[in-house]
Amino acid sequence: MELYTKVSQIHSFVENEKKANRSVAFIPTMGALHNGHLSLIHLSKKYANVTICSIYVNPSQFNNKEDLLKYPRSLDQDSRLLEMLKCDVLFAPSDKEVYPDGLSVELDLDLAHMDTCMEGAFRPGHFKGMLEVVYRLLDIIKPDFLIMGQKDFQQFTLVKQMILQMNLSVRLIIGPTLREADGLAMSSRNQRLSSPMRKNAPEIYKNLIHIKENLHSDTPGTLSMMAIENLKKAGLRPEYVDIVDGNSLSKITNPQNHSYIVACVAVWAGDVRLIDNIVVKGNTD
Ligand code: AMP
Repeated sequence: MELYTKVSQIHSFVENEKKANRSVAFIPTMGALHNGHLSLIHLSKKYANVTICSIYVNPSQFNNKEDLLKYPRSLDQDSRLLEMLKCDVLFAPSDKEVYPDGLSVELDLDLAHMDTCMEGAFRPGHFKGMLEVVYRLLDIIKPDFLIMGQKDFQQFTLVKQMILQMNLSVRLIIGPTLREADGLAMSSRNQRLSSPMRKNAPEIYKNLIHIKENLHSDTPGTLSMMAIENLKKAGLRPEYVDIVDGNSLSKITNPQNHSYIVACVAVWAGDVRLIDNIVVKGNTD
């Protein structure tokens, strides 16, 4: 595996691959890799000849300074894992490479409320920073495929909108959420959970399953309220439990009027913020 830190190195690598008619898949990450990330490497190999994974903890998508400071970093171990999985390139740029002086990425997108609801409401500015860095990385790498995880449902839905509205020539592929045996979605943040909170955290997925299994009989409003109460009883501090239309991200009232429905949760487990979601109806394509 090649480890590149410079944009110029990626440019010449990708140029050579394209000349040789080899397709390129790109997986953006913030590192502290776990099996969820690694499943995306496997997935990328089904689509493309070459896999590029980036590790870049993007400061502009952190609305909370402490979260940025505490974000786990383990480049050496990540690099070994990627090598074992035969990832072709690890791109680990500095802030200066991604955002050199004088470069400003301003995206003109019409996202209605899609970037201000759910995560957007609790993490102001997060999606602006996320979309700008994904755009910038796509512009550097120019991959044929962009591989992202279902785990960050609102994130990939906004990226899908960006690709559509800006007519970017990249195909978005979504990989399923990998979970621990007790249902907790794998996340780099899980390693910061205290042991009591680690025990409470599977309650998130249990409640998502409950919503999925009961949406035919209970109203979305009732199911959300019940989930919030259950999460509180389990010692977690829920920020939202929203049952939304998978395309518009608007809260639904009548499931029969929607072909694609996703239930989304954010909670605090002690001082660690966790998100998860489940597709209740339809699929992500
Ligand atoms: P992150 O490093 O948290 O920015 O995540 C990088 C990519 O990995 C994103 O597309 C995430 O949606 C995806 N991802 C994170 N956790 C999981 C998981 N448990 N299963 C599958 N994909 C995941």
